[in-house]
Amino acid sequence: MIAAIRGTQDILPGVVERWQFVEATACRVFEQYGYAELRTPVIEREELFAKGTGETTDIVQKEMYAFTDKDGERITLRPEATPSLVRAFVEHSLEQAMAVPKIYTIGPMFRRERPQKGRYRQFHQLDVEVFGVQDPSVDGEVIDLAWTLVRELGITGVELAVNSVGCPACRPAFAAALVAALGEDVKTLCGDCQRRAVTNPLRIFDCKVPADQPVIDRLPHTIDFLCDACRAHFDAVRKYLDLFAVPYTLSHRLVRGLDYYTRTTFEILSGNIGAQSAVLGGGRYDGLVKKLGGPDRVGIGFAAGIERLVLALAEGLPLPDKHPDVFVAALGDPAREASLALLRDLRRAGLNAQIEYEGRSLKSQMKRADRLKAPVVFILGEDELARGEVTVRRMAASEQVSVPLSQAVEFAKANR
Ligand code: AMP
Repeated sequence: MIAAIRGTQDILPGVVERWQFVEATACRVFEQYGYAELRTPVIEREELFAKGTGETTDIVQKEMYAFTDKDGERITLRPEATPSLVRAFVEHSLEQAMAVPKIYTIGPMFRRERPQKGRYRQFHQLDVEVFGVQDPSVDGEVIDLAWTLVRELGITGVELAVNSVGCPACRPAFAAALVAALGEDVKTLCGDCQRRAVTNPLRIFDCKVPADQPVIDRLPHTIDFLCDACRAHFDAVRKYLDLFAVPYTLSHRLVRGLDYYTRTTFEILSGNIGAQSAVLGGGRYDGLVKKLGGPDRVGIGFAAGIERLVLALAEGLPLPDKHPDVFVAALGDPAREASLALLRDLRRAGLNAQIEYEGRSLKSQMKRADRLKAPVVFILGEDELARGEVTVRRMAASEQVSVPLSQAVEFAKANR
């Protein structure tokens, strides 16, 4: 027996309906806000994420599924969507093609993390990005979109956290303040944090080691170090969130685990899905497009984890009750041929019609119809064929009527 790879999962019928609901709702809401879908490849050059996501992030340092291709090129399964969408934005000059480039994508991402509830090595994201808009009203709109998505999914018990991480002008002072505030305490932190204190002090906030948390909680707050422009931007974002009636809390530790964020960062957390509580996260990335070789354009977006949204969905969600409109039962070879022709006509008319393939007894065919929850069964035997009729059994009422074969499709349509 060859089992699925650790950290991956099969999404089986019975659960996949929840995924379909999440994806269909997301597409509807994204399109309503003016976003267009763009699909990128699952494999990219490793360099895209080293440069984009950031050399000092856990994702790039520890978690990428990267390999050397036969021609010597370094390739990786994508760990996130934003750098790919930036690449596509630049490569296809979408700035010219779209008035305001507002893009979404849905698909699998790959990170070699330690699997646990809500955390997988292949997981799936809904991702949106807007390029080229500096005005803080777009931050407000993107956060409102994230909040609306979660609300439209009927997910409750969630909290929106917002922060600003500043820009390259104000961040060095903050990084220096972090190192100064840590002082000798840095020696008590985990090995990763000691390394972060040297390479990228902001990343210390990503630390999950319980023993490190009291020290990290005492560190200075980003928003106390914002430059005037970043402060004005953040004040405006908060004003727009109030205007859009989106409730939020300020979270000083919210710096996100990726290097490209500037100014606004946000996350939606669920209280009902366990330790991996972030269902969605995003922010502004004003330097990323240029860094990846494009024009100097700003950007903002978010990614939501479908696995976690599915976990957070209400138990009693009214999902479509899937069943055939009609089941066709046949007795004897001539009737079986006629039943297949009827099956064909029912399907061409757009109905969900099913049959028993192994031509068994009427009793076992009725059992199958019952299991499939078909409300109506058409029975075709030699007698029915001779009369040019089908016997119709309504399963709920256990009653039978005869209908001319020529009217069977119309009857099925009217009774579905
Ligand atoms: P990130 O790209 O790290 O900002 O993550 C955005 C969202 O993707 C998170 O809020 C999660 O919902 C989801 N996510 C990230 N990593 C994983 C993972 N390993 N397994 C499942 N979901 C994930």
